[in-house]
Amino acid sequence: MSNPIIDIGVNLMHRSFHQDRELVVARATENHVTPLIITGTSLRNSIEASRYAGRYPGKLYATTGVHPHDAKNCNEETITKIKELAALPQVVAIGECGLDYNRDFSPRDVQRKWFTEQVGLALELNMPLFLHEREAFSDFASILKENEVKKAVVHCFTGTVHELNTYLELGFHIGITGWICDERRGNHLKELVRRIPLNRLMIETDAPFLTPRDLKEKPVDGRNEPAFLPHILQTVARCVEKSVDEVAKATTETAREFFGI
Ligand SMILES: [Zn+2]
Repeated sequence: MSNPIIDIGVNLMHRSFHQDRELVVARATENHVTPLIITGTSLRNSIEASRYAGRYPGKLYATTGVHPHDAKNCNEETITKIKELAALPQVVAIGECGLDYNRDFSPRDVQRKWFTEQVGLALELNMPLFLHEREAFSDFASILKENEVKKAVVHCFTGTVHELNTYLELGFHIGITGWICDERRGNHLKELVRRIPLNRLMIETDAPFLTPRDLKEKPVDGRNEPAFLPHILQTVARCVEKSVDEVAKATTETAREFFGI
């Protein structure tokens, strides 16, 4: 495997990477996983992500936004700051933002308000959206439809066929993680991924979360990292019955085009 592949979702500023962040980036490059797009999940985290990405031009990029878990800490000032960060050359999308009614770490009306604000910002700046949805499909889809969003990736898609069809009809891109490697809860994805055209499909680790359950050599600490993306690529290629090279090339091209990198 030699085609470089892009990890579109790495929580590289997560505390579990504090000790060895540079090594994690180096191991990703050794495994042809480059560039990486660092997920911004809160204002503070987005500031750190863009700062860190700025040290590796062309190799690291970042998104900037507030995850629904953190929506309760948002105010108008937050949106102003996100807008400032979005102007940096290494910042390639607004997000991750969306709705999460699974954990409900922020009240639902508060989640909807700040999700809508970030959608508006992405439209104003003509930037792609990096989206998160858990058990909130109907409200989530309504907000995106009402705002006529077109350029968006639903990251870590784990939903139903109806949800997938809705996203594809809306013109969205889909991010697939190592969830698809999980024999307990990822089997439906193995079928669904076949419905995603290659020019809408991107791959991601969501590291340090979602370590693929079927890795041959499991990390001792259980931590996921971008160097494991080729494993996810292989699983996806098997599911769509195409060669690893073809899927690598296509998903890389799709990510480059989508994020403009
Ligand atoms: Zn997410």
